[in-house]
Amino acid sequence: MVISFFSCCPPLFVLALVAGGYYSYVIEFCLLYLVGVTKKIIYITIYHFMLVMFTWSFFSTMCSGHDDIPDEYRLTPSENERLLSYKEYDADQILKKIVNLRKLEINTCAPNSRIRYCKECTQIKPDRTHHCSSCKRCIMKMDHHCPWVGNCVGFNNYKQFVLTLLYATIWCTFYVGTVAEYIIEIWRDIQNSVNKIILGTGLLVIGLSGVLSSFLFFYHVGLLTRNETTLESLRETTFREDNLTFDLGKWNNFVTVFGDNICCWFIPTDTAIGNGHEFTVNRLIG
Ligand SMILES: [Zn+2]
Ligand SMILES: [Zn+2]
Repeated sequence: MVISFFSCCPPLFVLALVAGGYYSYVIEFCLLYLVGVTKKIIYITIYHFMLVMFTWSFFSTMCSGHDDIPDEYRLTPSENERLLSYKEYDADQILKKIVNLRKLEINTCAPNSRIRYCKECTQIKPDRTHHCSSCKRCIMKMDHHCPWVGNCVGFNNYKQFVLTLLYATIWCTFYVGTVAEYIIEIWRDIQNSVNKIILGTGLLVIGLSGVLSSFLFFYHVGLLTRNETTLESLRETTFREDNLTFDLGKWNNFVTVFGDNICCWFIPTDTAIGNGHEFTVNRLIG
């Protein structure tokens, strides 16, 4: 796989931020500035724990593979050739016949009521699947392509992505919360202007990162409680039948992504329930 230089830049920027934050916090702040061994040990231990959880979640999201869409959604070369020779309406009739014949559980369609089909992958798109132009393939329950992790966020790594945002928020808040308490003293006490700049810049950059990650975290908590992806929040899903929704209620929506084992909720592993191409739908009342 050819990884372009530009696609590597955002993840490298995040890792540079982590490395810079580590130096300014652990070396400059805890080891060189803080007084009192107990405080040093407590701060460094908490910092390392959160750093491990953040980097674990970050790399889990980044390195996660995406399951292949089952073969029954794929068209044979002859079916695809036939499809391309027909006009749009007739092509859609063929797709509907294939969906019925293969008993594919498809509840959504394009806004014009046609079956969603991916020309690049020559396959019928399962519900919530979208083609990613960066990954050059269809991704099940695609949320969005995230340049910061250099990977698509979808069915297999959404939980890991939300945990990345959670741990980034906690980590940044801890950094700012502990350093801000001393910032006036640091400015007054430290004579070396290089150390001042390192700590001041660290506080500013990590503070801004914390604001951004907390905003994204709470945005995704909102999506999670509605069982919605970022793409679905931007463009309304069209169902083949009226009054259908993927929203199963807050608790069930949470469990479908995070699993029903509480011990795994805060660990960045894939615990999503389901297969990624068939989803339970709820019928709206009224
Ligand atoms: Zn595709
Ligand atoms: Zn992608």
